[in-house]
Amino acid sequence: MRVCVLASGSSGNCTYVESHSTKLLIDAGLSARQVRERLCKLGIQPDQIDAILITHDHQDHTSEAGIVSLALGSPIYCTERTLAGFWNLLSGHEQIRHFRVGQEFWVKDLKIHPFRVFHDALDPCGFLIEEASLFTQYAKRLGIATDLGTIPLLLRENLKDCDLLILESNHDLEMLLQGDYPWHLKQRIRSEVGHLSNQAAGEAIAAIAQHGRLKRVFLAHLSEKNNHPQKALETVKSCLNGLSPQLEIYVSHRDRPSPLIEF
Ligand SMILES: [Zn+2]
Ligand SMILES: [Zn+2]
Repeated sequence: MRVCVLASGSSGNCTYVESHSTKLLIDAGLSARQVRERLCKLGIQPDQIDAILITHDHQDHTSEAGIVSLALGSPIYCTERTLAGFWNLLSGHEQIRHFRVGQEFWVKDLKIHPFRVFHDALDPCGFLIEEASLFTQYAKRLGIATDLGTIPLLLRENLKDCDLLILESNHDLEMLLQGDYPWHLKQRIRSEVGHLSNQAAGEAIAAIAQHGRLKRVFLAHLSEKNNHPQKALETVKSCLNGLSPQLEIYVSHRDRPSPLIEF
């Protein structure tokens, strides 16, 4: 499989995922022009995207879904409740396919398992994406969870067999508390349905990496005001405390795509 985080953060999210025969976008908070440009730079034909999966209705994940869907001729996959939160951004001409959180579905050779995350959206989920394989123990697995206030034990368990994980590392707690956001916004971000701190992300990654399968991590959805890429990286590495020295950690950015990673 190959993965590239095309853009990540509260100004817009979009991730490209590719298997042997399937090409997906996850979330569509990036303009159709930018999606095309960034895919073309990677050598990928934008009109070959099979599906656009939506994690939740917040605008940084859905603002361009309608335009991107029509421009690329790709259907949008989301839950009915998530659609209720962004249908007003659509033209009515898009192809929409529904899934339910907790119920697996397939897009060609990719098995998609949408799992519940805690976040203040209508029906938020993350995805566990597995490539079809004759031998399921060797099937490549990708986990993505980019907006979540907490990462409980059950969710860590769910992610333990991932080869690659895209996980939110939203804020440095001290920067958030000392920054100039109004108190209610600080409360919202810190809450169990807000966003994951660097420390919480690092502890979760350390727990997941203990199982020995995880090889690569993208830190995602970094706050522009309350975080810094170096700070996120250092905090997560300090949580790993020398464990899993082989683990490759990348920071994703708002304004440019990550490297295209094959795993
Ligand atoms: Zn978001
Ligand atoms: Zn959100």
